[in-house]
Amino acid sequence: MTVLARTDIFIFMKILQGVSASAGIGAGTVFIVPETEQTAVDKKSISKSEVESQWKRFLQAVDQVKKDLRTIDNSDDKEQTAIFEAYTVMLDDPVFTEQIKKSHESNLTNIEYAVYEQYQLAAEAMRSMGDAYLSQRADDICDVFGRVVNVLLEKKRFDVEAVPENAVIIAKMLLPTDAVMLAKRNPAAVVLAEGGVNSHFAILARNYAIPAVLGIKDILQNAADGDKAIVNGDTGSVIINPDEVKARQYEKDRAAEEKREKELAVFKTKQALSADGEKFGIFANIGSVEEAENAYNEGADGIGLFRTEFLFMNANRILSEDEQYDVYSKVLKNMGKKPVTIRTLDAGADKVVPLEELSGADETNPLLGWRAIRVSLAKVDLFKTQLRALFRASVHGNLRIMFPLVCTIEELEKALEIVDEVKAELKKQKIKFSENVKIGIMVETAAAAFISDFFAETVDFFSIGTNDLTQYSLGVDRDNTKVSYLFDEMHPAILRMIQQVVKNADKKGVSVSVCGEMASRPAGIAVLAGLGVRNFSMSASQVCAAKELLSKHTVKEFEALAKKALNTSSAAKIKKLAESLLK
Ligand code: PEP
Ligand code: MG
Repeated sequence: MTVLARTDIFIFMKILQGVSASAGIGAGTVFIVPETEQTAVDKKSISKSEVESQWKRFLQAVDQVKKDLRTIDNSDDKEQTAIFEAYTVMLDDPVFTEQIKKSHESNLTNIEYAVYEQYQLAAEAMRSMGDAYLSQRADDICDVFGRVVNVLLEKKRFDVEAVPENAVIIAKMLLPTDAVMLAKRNPAAVVLAEGGVNSHFAILARNYAIPAVLGIKDILQNAADGDKAIVNGDTGSVIINPDEVKARQYEKDRAAEEKREKELAVFKTKQALSADGEKFGIFANIGSVEEAENAYNEGADGIGLFRTEFLFMNANRILSEDEQYDVYSKVLKNMGKKPVTIRTLDAGADKVVPLEELSGADETNPLLGWRAIRVSLAKVDLFKTQLRALFRASVHGNLRIMFPLVCTIEELEKALEIVDEVKAELKKQKIKFSENVKIGIMVETAAAAFISDFFAETVDFFSIGTNDLTQYSLGVDRDNTKVSYLFDEMHPAILRMIQQVVKNADKKGVSVSVCGEMASRPAGIAVLAGLGVRNFSMSASQVCAAKELLSKHTVKEFEALAKKALNTSSAAKIKKLAESLLK
């Protein structure tokens, strides 16, 4: 029994509407994730020889803060934008920067302390003038340089141990790493002021089956620690301090959800078949060993996508060859003979791994920058370490290796050359590996889709990443709430590209799966099945529902839908067509 309603006289119920990002209904006590605060910094002496490297760290930290400010500032609030612009000017101030440098060099103190001391002194001087405007500027200096110090100290945004179990987590924005950490506290639900449903945070919430609602701009003004909340991840509604009626309704909805979960559970042991008996493969997307166990229990036919960057993000460091070998072996053993597709590092953009060049890089356009296979091909040692760990683990199961964001044939050729080098090295060292490892690529850009005929000559399989394919083809940031209305993988341009990829793959006997979020959405599954896709990969929690959907219709019905969709002018219209088949 959950006692949810708050009957205190002065507490009013509030109902807020956001965007549903992860299904399910959750209720509990609110925990607000605080923004990081700056506390006093320890003073340490350093030697002259350390000055240069510490100064370099300072410059990188400043770049990181500028980047963070740009990421945070995606609201319509002009005032906020102006403040952040002023912050950037402060960070670039040559006089203040020189002041910090001088203090750091002449006092030989650790850089964190030098920054802390200088901004505290500057703020004190401003406050002592007794002018309201200058006091405000003093707060700004503390805020922005406090951020720099937090980056230098690698201070965590919040202490996960402080998060109560089964809480409704409310925050402005959370990173994918936060989702990984928070999952350990079994949250009842998550509500964010920002974020997109195709963001990596949202994907992780779905992987962990945490109900999530995003994009409620004023959530922090309407909820406080200790409030009660009901979050409906199916409809996007959030009720703060529900009254008795709403609390009773919640109990009913929860019971209905449990009933539905039981109905779906029968599919765990069933092969996915359409109503006319055509076989489909339903695979799981994972980011850890635990998720692989869950995938197995949910009846997935294998792993369609292991996002290995989450391992590095979770550990907040680069894992050694042995550590990676351990993880990959466990996943492969767990899945027995079932195929396990492991994607090499897809770092960059919002998936920040602790690579010096990545965290310090101030790219104007990180999504179009140094990420995914581009990083692996530039950091060959890192790539080789991962490939060695993968090949060594290959003896434990049915491994497939996949490269992310491949756009050119040269990238594929270079990656394959390195694979050959790694295999030759292992052979020389008499280390066993499987000769049957299949190699494939993600199709995530229009470039890859349009030359998939060339790629099909070399690779064993394609996995279509509709999240990035949509992001890059429609020119819509998948994380940006302001433009999320434009993000739609049912856009006819995306369907036409997928059709082409499937055709090119079929001609060469290359297998195709779809591992973007489209593969788990009912309308997406129906259209993809009609386009000839037979393998789908999704969060483990969605596997049974996908099998159920496929079992209700014939391939002919899916094909008729896809044919109409390809000749329909907009995503909205295509979704209507799909809905009329699925209802
Ligand atoms: C995709 O882009 O669709 C995909 C599956 O990769 P990720 O979501 O990790 O970018
Ligand atoms: Mg992708």
